[in-house]
Amino acid sequence: MAAPTVSVPEQREVTYLERCGAHSHIRGLGLDDALEPRQTSQGMVGQLQARRAAGIVLEMIKEGKIAGRAILLAGQPGTGKTAIAMGMSRALGQDTPFTNMAASEIYSLEMSKTEALTQAIRKSIGVRIKEETEIIEGEVVEVMVDSPASGSAQKIGKLTLKTTEMETIYDLGTKMIDCIMKEKIQAGDVITIDKATGKVTKLGRSFARARDYDATGAQTRYVQCPEGELQKRKEVVHTVSLHEIDVINSRTQGFLALFSGDTGEIKGEVRDQINAKVAEWREEGKSEIAPGVLFIDEAHMLDIECFSFLNRALEHEMSPVIIMATNRGITRIRGTNYQSPHGIPIDLLDRMIIIKTTPYEEKELKSILKIRCEEEDCEVPADGLSVLTRIAMDTSLRYAIQLITTAGVVARRRKSHEVSIDDIRKVYSLFLDEHRSTQYLNEYQNEFMF
Ligand code: ATP
Repeated sequence: MAAPTVSVPEQREVTYLERCGAHSHIRGLGLDDALEPRQTSQGMVGQLQARRAAGIVLEMIKEGKIAGRAILLAGQPGTGKTAIAMGMSRALGQDTPFTNMAASEIYSLEMSKTEALTQAIRKSIGVRIKEETEIIEGEVVEVMVDSPASGSAQKIGKLTLKTTEMETIYDLGTKMIDCIMKEKIQAGDVITIDKATGKVTKLGRSFARARDYDATGAQTRYVQCPEGELQKRKEVVHTVSLHEIDVINSRTQGFLALFSGDTGEIKGEVRDQINAKVAEWREEGKSEIAPGVLFIDEAHMLDIECFSFLNRALEHEMSPVIIMATNRGITRIRGTNYQSPHGIPIDLLDRMIIIKTTPYEEKELKSILKIRCEEEDCEVPADGLSVLTRIAMDTSLRYAIQLITTAGVVARRRKSHEVSIDDIRKVYSLFLDEHRSTQYLNEYQNEFMF
């Protein structure tokens, strides 16, 4: 097997095909340091209980205490279940893989249901691959120490420097330096040097010694470890998903499949090899696993086989965090004649942390709509916003959000920067909401084909 390359485009750029447009305004859960939700923050509005609960789950995830459990977001349509899942993934960090799928996507003629789920799971597991490169000015560097005692390069310190100190660090790699440290540096310690004052500040523990420099007296600023010579090294980390590594190393597919998204089924033996390789890298300290989030919307559309597959997948040590969402109450479990809450088998429900979302009040709807107007670059005056809020109350939040986009198009056609009430009225009459669409069908059902 060819060694998986690290110069792979990130998953988000290639296969991050998800309906994120509607949630582009969500940048986190909007919680304060005590995990309390702010009324409006990071694009999130209201839904305080659910956000509070999601914040606690987030802490569990960060502390690695979520293994074997899944999360279920249950609530009526348009109450922000997807928005909360998105907020959680954003709060987990920039390179956290987030896969957003609707349960119905697993039914296809091209691959089995379990293969589709396996791919979704592996898309949600990031592998951070470390690579050493040249230092580029302005970047954070790690300093390695060659210990004469051990005869091998040993990393015992970390140095975080500002742009202006790059030259100094470069010199440190090649010059003999005198011992002037007051404190010791150990592996994992972080040190910063302030160019202006020349002050060396230790942020971590100690091994070698650092000293405060007199800015006027010293031309160069440096740190030194008494045991040996400092070398310059820069570690760059790429994050790719396990699925991408699978596809690249799959003889039948090849990396071009990543662009078309048409990866087909991947052989079990390829995955076994990749797992072994990644385990090897982990042991050598070349990579680490970054479990991401797999969000499955419309979870009631999964069938009993999928549920039992997921039940087992949750046990796996590399499992991503699985968040499901449903807007159904008691309904039939697909593939059986049994009913259960949310159409999810009781044994799986038992292992789930269930978070409920509740309908919004008028002022919350207004705030969400206002944020969406800004996000879509639509100037809607106060009276227009009130009309949209009324529509959201009478129909649905989703429908009102769609009207922002369509009314924006109409306003631009008449060369106006501002959406007027007339524009909203026009699109309201052109596009039906769910209620009026049903009404229309009831009135004219005889004229439709059966
Ligand atoms: P469904 O059950 O139909 O899938 P849902 O509960 O997942 O619906 P969303 O898709 O999250 O609902 O919400 C509809 C729209 O409203 C989205 O654009 C979403 O980003 C936005 N939204 C919902 N709740 C909030 C919130 N609390 N703060 C900010 N935006 C929100």
